[in-house]
Amino acid sequence: MNRTPVGRFAPTPSGRMHLGNVFAALIAWLSVRSKQGYFLLRMEDLDIQRTSPEFADILREDLRWLGLNWDEETPAQSKRSTVYDRYFSILREKGLLFPCYCTRSQLHGVGAPHASDGTYVYPGTCRNLTSEQIATFNRPPAWRVRVPDRDYEINDLCQGVYKENLLTDCGDFVVRRADEVYVYQLAVTVDDGEFGVTEVVRGQDLLSSSPRQMYLQALFGFSHPTYGHVPMLLAPDGRRLSKRDKDLDLGYLRQHLTPEALIGTLAYSANLIDREIPISARELSGEFSWEKLQKGPIFMTNTLFSGK
Ligand code: GLU
Repeated sequence: MNRTPVGRFAPTPSGRMHLGNVFAALIAWLSVRSKQGYFLLRMEDLDIQRTSPEFADILREDLRWLGLNWDEETPAQSKRSTVYDRYFSILREKGLLFPCYCTRSQLHGVGAPHASDGTYVYPGTCRNLTSEQIATFNRPPAWRVRVPDRDYEINDLCQGVYKENLLTDCGDFVVRRADEVYVYQLAVTVDDGEFGVTEVVRGQDLLSSSPRQMYLQALFGFSHPTYGHVPMLLAPDGRRLSKRDKDLDLGYLRQHLTPEALIGTLAYSANLIDREIPISARELSGEFSWEKLQKGPIFMTNTLFSGK
């Protein structure tokens, strides 16, 4: 089998897939399958409190129901902390890590909001602690990686050019928490890099994570993938869809729709087909192109919303 391009779907098994997750999975799959590439599935279960193997099983079953098959499931992130240790050591050897003792309330009190995602720009509080100062804290620190005063730019397949200066828009970021759990940014970079992912397709909400991941990719010696951050789905009246809309999670949708009807309504709303007809993922892969895909927010048709 041709291994290029290599795409992936990397869900967090913390509940039932929502319409937005289904859409991101569909586009990631279509992009790879329309080019006869290789598709990976990976469970992002770093947060063991919120995730469970049962949800992971349901997720696999939901993907099968949708007709979104995968060529390989790579190990779940919760099983890979010794691998992440190695990459953490690379950062340490490069002199880029420092311990941070800031509490959440300290961080929120001083930093400016992140340019794009509303989290806080790290003001550098613990960047230059002396060993004497470190010795005064008797609790385990989080570990942050120093970032350069440099712009990182991506040319996103959906969002166009996105640019961020890592120092002023984000600041040194946490790679391992005080409870020794590695964070998403490090795990995702290592996993995409080690398993040869060439295209990262996911929801728009993760666009602002990409510069951090590109920075880590360069430090770890991985090449940069192409990025496609798929637009947000909106209700026909323009309302943002939320996880609280229980009738838009797959548990509910599966009771009322065939997979072809669901994929058809998503594909039509996103401009991939010109009539709202039931269509399977496999049939749609013949129709897919990034040029056709609607780039701005996607207004869903009334089909899933009638009666609301
Ligand atoms: N696990 C993340 C989520 O479920 C997606 C991460 C990614 O695609 O990079 O939102």
